[in-house]
Amino acid sequence: MNTDQKVLDALRLTGVHHSYGKVQALCGVDLVLHPGELVCLLGPSGCGKTTVLRIAAGLEPLQRGEVSIADRLVAGDGVDMPPETRRVGLVFQDYALFPHLTVAGNVAFGLRGLNAATRTARVAETLEQVGMSGYDDSYPHQLSGGQQQRVALARALAPKPKVMLLDEPFSGLDSQLRNQVRDQTLHLLKANNTATLMVTHDPEEAMFMADRVILMEEGRVAQKGPPAELYLKPASAFVASFFGEVNRLAGVVQGGQVATPLGDLDARGIENGRAVEVLIRPEAMTLAPGSSEGILARVLAARMLGRSSLIHLSVEEGSAEELHLHARIPGRFLPAEQEIFGLILDHEQVFVFPKN
Ligand code: ATP
Repeated sequence: MNTDQKVLDALRLTGVHHSYGKVQALCGVDLVLHPGELVCLLGPSGCGKTTVLRIAAGLEPLQRGEVSIADRLVAGDGVDMPPETRRVGLVFQDYALFPHLTVAGNVAFGLRGLNAATRTARVAETLEQVGMSGYDDSYPHQLSGGQQQRVALARALAPKPKVMLLDEPFSGLDSQLRNQVRDQTLHLLKANNTATLMVTHDPEEAMFMADRVILMEEGRVAQKGPPAELYLKPASAFVASFFGEVNRLAGVVQGGQVATPLGDLDARGIENGRAVEVLIRPEAMTLAPGSSEGILARVLAARMLGRSSLIHLSVEEGSAEELHLHARIPGRFLPAEQEIFGLILDHEQVFVFPKN
């Protein structure tokens, strides 16, 4: 490849299938990571996220499909470049620092091809970037979890990789430290304009970090796009419910609508007679005082959750049996039990999908 040429794809996987014995882990995964982009590979446990990362890194032999890095084929079609020549930076869940090497020794590990002076300068520069200057001579066991994470990040970044691959890099940290380290990592990767593929099972983390999210379900890509697109325009009930609690109702489509205790809802594009699932986000509901507008709803309980309040509601009219719903109202809102409200739906946050 001409080195002056602009790289189009930092990483590309095409038609990747993978099995461990009888377990089919990946079934035709296509994925593109653009230069400078941070993409989160999101999904429940066992959906194949780590397998994608290991195949991209060359830690798992490719069985079918193709992998290219910076527009160059690294695996497939008879090619199989070893991990150390793929120019990927790796950060694992457990950081995998070398315990017998100092912080500086760990960061210098991937710089063995450079002369001593350049290597020392690069180590100092990277440690400064991650806020770990002055820890050069410390050993990993002398560092906190957050500091070890930063050294792992520095070690991966020091050789200026074409692609960073991060596997649940914050899961070993407690929640407060995780937020802080997450924020620092995001800004560091963006400042370096490093193309990054990061595995996480946490939708909030993915929404915090990602330019784009690739959500996986049982070895396949369920949906990909900017976080807001997946949240606001989910392609399936799986995608809608993966991003948080949803209220679920069932119904049958008649004339492009589905009748529910909350009124007729739009089901355009789904054929008549088809059983559907209606998913309503708790924040799709607002509560009007009294019974002047909306559907009548009775408060069963109200709990303050911090930034929002969760209201347990009962809707009786129009439903064969009592319908229990959860509404999430911003801030402090703690109505008394049995109080009656008019429930108003934001139809943008109501999703109707054919039942499987
Ligand atoms: P987690 O979030 O729990 O790490 P994941 O989405 O990263 O899960 P993978 O680790 O890629 O999922 O695993 C995908 C599937 O392949 C799972 O069913 C898993 O049990 C299986 N699997 C992974 N590694 C192996 C292995 N070395 N041998 C056999 N099966 C494996």
